[in-house]
Amino acid sequence: MTLAVNNVDSGYRRIPVIKEIDFTINYGEIVGLIGLNGAGKSTLLKTILGLLTPQAGTITIENKSILDNHTDYAKKIAYIPETPILYDELTLQEHLEMTGLGYDIPREEIMKRAQPLLELFRLDDVLNWFPVHFSKGMKQKVMIVCALITNAKVLIIDEPFLGLDPLAIRDFINLLKERAANGSAVLFTTHMLSIAGDLCDSYLILSKGELVGKGDLEDLRTQFKDPEASLDDIYIAMTEMETLSQAEGTER
Ligand code: ATP
Repeated sequence: MTLAVNNVDSGYRRIPVIKEIDFTINYGEIVGLIGLNGAGKSTLLKTILGLLTPQAGTITIENKSILDNHTDYAKKIAYIPETPILYDELTLQEHLEMTGLGYDIPREEIMKRAQPLLELFRLDDVLNWFPVHFSKGMKQKVMIVCALITNAKVLIIDEPFLGLDPLAIRDFINLLKERAANGSAVLFTTHMLSIAGDLCDSYLILSKGELVGKGDLEDLRTQFKDPEASLDDIYIAMTEMETLSQAEGTER
């Protein structure tokens, strides 16, 4: 099993935001994590990354948790955050070199892996630039290139398409498919359901911190009792369930 999340509760200051989260992802799979604003998607990703400690349950990659060996665990994951995090005083080239150091990539190998990605994203002419000169989309592309030069077998990506132009979105989708075909597991959040439909093998539907659906579209159709439903229909059904439970909560 690549990534196993077993009955996890997690949140901030001991208050659980996500509850009893349970799923597994295998190598080769692309899984979309879907839910309304505030559902707990980023909280779940941060917990898998080890930035938050589970309040209950366990998370393992290849049967090893972060507690077994923090460095080994971290090297198995590459993360692309919702908002690009770059160092003001490092050039693009230095960002790549720093990533290479973190993942034990030999120096000569770093640029070999990065070059085609830099060309694809039109960053090959700006290797000596500092982040202050990058547009929002360029910063996002730098994060993508840094993640994709690693050997990490698990890619965790938080809302990756915001700020990317349509060409970059298409190229990034193809890269993720290629990465999965070569044996990586990909878990990403998005509000762009049409992209999710094109990209995902399966889905995790998160509502108010709880998993209310998981599996491929057929599984979701069964779980939401609608044999014809599209992903959009399932999303709407999920939001209606939320509204209903909120109204019931207010009445009580
Ligand atoms: P979005 O789609 O808007 O990115 P999300 O599904 O990623 O939302 P989270 O960011 O995981 O949602 O937030 C889930 C809940 O946790 C929200 O109620 C939010 O207020 C709360 N929360 C998020 N970050 C913190 C924090 N640092 N401290 C306290 N509460 C937080």
